[in-house]
Amino acid sequence: MTLLRSGSASDIGLVRSSNQDLVVETATLFAVADGMGGHAGGEVAARLAATSLTTAFNRHPTGAGLTEAVAEANQAVWEHSLEDPDLRGMGTTLTAIALVNEDGRDLLALVNVGDSRAYRFHDGGLVQLTTDHSLAEEMVRTGELSAAEAAVHPHRHILTRALGVSAEVMSDLWWIRPERGDRFLLCSDGLTNELDDAQVAEVLSSVADPARAAELLVQAARTHGGSDNITVVVVDVLVGEDEPEEGGAAAVAAGDAPLPAIAPSAGDRGDGEDASDSAVTPEVQSSRRERRRAKRRQRRMARGRRLVTVRTVLFAAVVAAVLAAGFYAVRWYDTNSFFVTVDHNELVIYQGRIGGFLWYHPVTVERTGVTTSDVPATYLSSLRSGVEETSVAGARSYVSNLVTVEQQQNSAQGAPSTTAPPTTTTTTTTKAGG
Ligand code: MN
Repeated sequence: MTLLRSGSASDIGLVRSSNQDLVVETATLFAVADGMGGHAGGEVAARLAATSLTTAFNRHPTGAGLTEAVAEANQAVWEHSLEDPDLRGMGTTLTAIALVNEDGRDLLALVNVGDSRAYRFHDGGLVQLTTDHSLAEEMVRTGELSAAEAAVHPHRHILTRALGVSAEVMSDLWWIRPERGDRFLLCSDGLTNELDDAQVAEVLSSVADPARAAELLVQAARTHGGSDNITVVVVDVLVGEDEPEEGGAAAVAAGDAPLPAIAPSAGDRGDGEDASDSAVTPEVQSSRRERRRAKRRQRRMARGRRLVTVRTVLFAAVVAAVLAAGFYAVRWYDTNSFFVTVDHNELVIYQGRIGGFLWYHPVTVERTGVTTSDVPATYLSSLRSGVEETSVAGARSYVSNLVTVEQQQNSAQGAPSTTAPPTTTTTTTTKAGG
């Protein structure tokens, strides 16, 4: 028997012109979607993903059902984007956690595509469960960047996987055994870009009510800059698996019973295995390690055999398909992106990727006439490295929002402020602010 209690909050932030984040919060399914795409694209993508995920999961409320639901959500967004030229290229991140019953045991299934995140907070420790599908994260994995460098890298928002941008999507899946006292946090990057782990943990440890904790996290991210939409879901495990529902009876022995023999899909794809280690409760970790090692060996061997057949029969076709897909992906990736940066003290909008991408180089779209003294000084360093937007309209409204913020700050300095964002209980503790 597992009992959950949840709360959520979402906010447009201080500089974006629309909120393209979305929350799913039902009794057993919780998700965050962070949409992207010009004009209405991001909002449509996030909404389609959220509704089709919920509908499909309710039809098959199992772990396999959750993975199927992600595939259906991908299909819904992808097909819709083909029907409407204004929505072409839209997509969304999706991080979802669901309480399911597998072979009579309550488990949490966690899936992820993109750079929204899931964390587990337990006994004061905050652990990130998901792996970002971003260029910066890939560079960390290959050793080109440290985690600290990745957190401020200008390419940290470039996704290597998103929902709805192609006919198929790969999602990572983790299994977690819920324990009393577990607190799960799902959030869009608007939270983690503004707050470091210590600041997030401070709120999670000091505020018991999940809805209030979600609200305070969102407010703290606004206070720290609010440069993106901010969305948070907090899910508390009130009663965990194998625990007596009320005090009295002695705790049922846990730990020996194995988790259901379902191979994590992330493992099949060769990444995310380390992350799945951290998602499993410590008690079962050691007993599972041996079996997992054996499984991994088997999988490697199976993969080897498969590769040989594929290579001998389909090599040319596969290479051609990969090259074509790569070419269109790069072109899509480049023409659907804009960024704002500083040139001779003026804010300039470019089309393309910061620093160029493969054979594409950024093209000037417009010089805005807005100078570095018209915008808050705190945004200058990120502007100098370039701030990405998915449309010209988005880039323009980003610039005009910065000007508005600067004007409000200037007028607020003259008179006693009535519009200052609410302060929170969050304080920076031992870690220096990121
Ligand atoms: Mn975002």
